[in-house]
Parts: sequence; structure tokens; C-alpha cells
Amino acid sequence: MRIGEIISDHRPVFSAEFFPPKTDEGREQLISTARTLAGLDLDFVSVTYGAGGSTREGTFDITKALKDEVGLEVMAHLSCVGETKQGLAVTLDRLKELGIDNIFALRGDPPRGESDFVQPEGGLASAADLAGFISEGYDFSIGGACFPEVHPEAPDLDTDLSYLKTKVDAGAEFLITQLFFDNRAYFDFVEAARAKGIKVPILAGIIPVTGYAHTKRICNLCDAGIPASLEAAMLAAGGDTEAEFNLGVAYAAQQCAELLAAGAPGIHFYALNKAPATLAVLGALRAAQPWRGARSQSVGA
Ligand SMILES: Cc1cc2nc3c(=O)[nH]c(=O)nc-3n(C[C@H](O)[C@H](O)[C@H](O)COP(=O)(O)OP(=O)(O)OC[C@H]3O[C@@H](n4cnc5c(N)ncnc54)[C@H](O)[C@@H]3O)c2cc1C
Repeated sequence: MRIGEIISDHRPVFSAEFFPPKTDEGREQLISTARTLAGLDLDFVSVTYGAGGSTREGTFDITKALKDEVGLEVMAHLSCVGETKQGLAVTLDRLKELGIDNIFALRGDPPRGESDFVQPEGGLASAADLAGFISEGYDFSIGGACFPEVHPEAPDLDTDLSYLKTKVDAGAEFLITQLFFDNRAYFDFVEAARAKGIKVPILAGIIPVTGYAHTKRICNLCDAGIPASLEAAMLAAGGDTEAEFNLGVAYAAQQCAELLAAGAPGIHFYALNKAPATLAVLGALRAAQPWRGARSQSVGA
């Protein structure tokens, strides 16, 4: 089913993001994670894509397994890095053959060791170009990325939002944010996006912290800020991994509850192929239903 339709059909939606496993053991673990999370009615899962198609076969394999073996709705990520238009078309044809209805259209980051994205010869320059390429030739439901704390290469929010608008105009039916920990960043971003004429649903990307050092590394890589209050609480755990995990889960549950009570259309969990933290947060949300009697739908369009 098309994710655009799932989001119009009901709110909130919950999804989880996985990466293609590199080993048979990792594959088994991911299938087991997906089966566990499916028990809490995940609306869809997404599978990331490595630069230059480095994970292409793994993406095909796990995408098919999640759809056919686990019975989940799946979205395949696709990026422009190192790809010609012809190569992108081959990948899109294959995904269509596998029965995939949803593509997350990305520009992608420069390959490791390179600092700038360079448009590949015969390829595309941006996620908006990819969204346009897909919507011209295919009938996928298309999603795109957005950055509440501004994309690291953008000079400012206004410029970033102008480009984001081109991505939506080119066919992105919904957006998913980069991970963030301060809900103010999301609320302000959604308000600014609406003022720019970006009307599509914006799902909040949330990572339950399962280990502080690891999460800090991820945040450094994607330029996401950790609020000083969360940092202080994590440091107070004194390196106790179980305490960090519990704190991360409690923080994420609180963060999601506030977002949903304010009318956010859904939460996309950066699950990192593991079930326990996402299961705890999603389970708590399903139990408490903070979206009932949401104060306003101001961020829910
Ligand atoms: C939810 C999510 C999932 C992700 N999954 C993956 C994945 O599976 N694989 C992967 O490799 N990466 C992934 N990424 C990372 C993503 O590829 C990087 O953040 C990348 O740097 C930006 O991709 P984009 O699609 O937002 O690019 P774009 O929307 O093209 O934007 C990139 C930058 O270029 C600017 N820009 C856009 N259009 C123009 C233009 N016409 N002229 C000048 N500047 C322009 C934008 O303002 C921005 O600064 C993901 C990110 C998110 C938030």
C-alpha cells in the first residue's frame, strides 16, 4: 500500500528504519526485530541505501523479506550518489518487480573520504531531481528527508526550505525529519515549512538513545544537537549502560508523547535493527495514546 495513502487514512502513523544487514546472523536478527515490532502495528518500515548502490543487493533482499516473510509495508531508500539515471531506472524497475510501492528519494551524502557531493556523470544533482525522475516514469509513493536543525550544507533555514519545496513540488508526498531531541526544533520547523507553502505531512524522526557514546557519534555525523539537559542526565548515569538505555527510552517516550499530543502525524523510529528500545517507546505510546484529545492539529497537516 502507498504510504501517502496510509498517512491520509489514519493518524498517527508509526514506522521504523532499518539498514541492510551484512551477515546472515544480522539478517536473522533484523527479521526477528521486525516481527517483534510488527506486533505493535507498525504502519511501515524503511530500508536504507548505501552510497553508489553499495548495499543494493542487501536492500533488495531485506526489502522483499520484510514484505513477504514478515508482512510489513516497506519503503526502499534510494540515493543519487554514484548513480547514473540508467542505473537508477534499473533499481526502480527491480523494486517495482518486487512489489514495492514506496521510495524514499534522497540525494545522499558524499562517499566516505570526500567532503562535497558531486553530481555523477549522467546522474542527478538533488533529491528533488530524483523525486521528479521517479514521478515522471513510475507510480511509487515518494517520501523525502527534511532537517529541523537545517541541513548542514544549507546557508540558512529559508534557503533549505526553498529547496525542500522543490522536492515536494517534484512529487514527495510526505517528509521524514532527521533525528532531533528538542521538540521546539520540530515545532518551529513545521511552522516555517507551512509558511513556505510546504503542506505535506512531516513525520518526526526519533532515535531512542540505547547507548550515549554511540548516539553522540551518530549525532556528530548528522549534525543533530543533544540538549544540555539530556547530556547532563546521560552523564549522571556514569557510564552505566543499563541506566543510559532506560533514560533514553524514557526520554524518547516523553518526546514522542509531546509531539503526538501537539498533532504530529507520526513518528519514524531510527531503530538501528534492534527491537527493545523502539518496542518500549512504541508500546508505551500505544498504551497511553497521547494523541487522543490532541490540543491542536497545528503541526498535523
Ligand atoms: C530520514 C532520513 C533517511 C536517510 N536515509 C539515507 C539513506 O538511506 N542513504 C543515504 O545515503 N543517506 C540517507 N540519509 C542522509 C541524506 O542522504 C543526507 O542527509 C544528504 O546530505 C541530504 O540528502 P537529501 O535527500 O536531504 O538532499 P537534498 O534535498 O538534495 O538537499 C541536500 C542539500 O542541497 C541543498 N539543495 C537542494 N536542492 C538544491 C539546488 N537545486 N541547488 C542548490 N542546493 C540545493 C539543500 O538545501 C541541502 O543543503 C537520510 C536522511 C534522513 C533525514
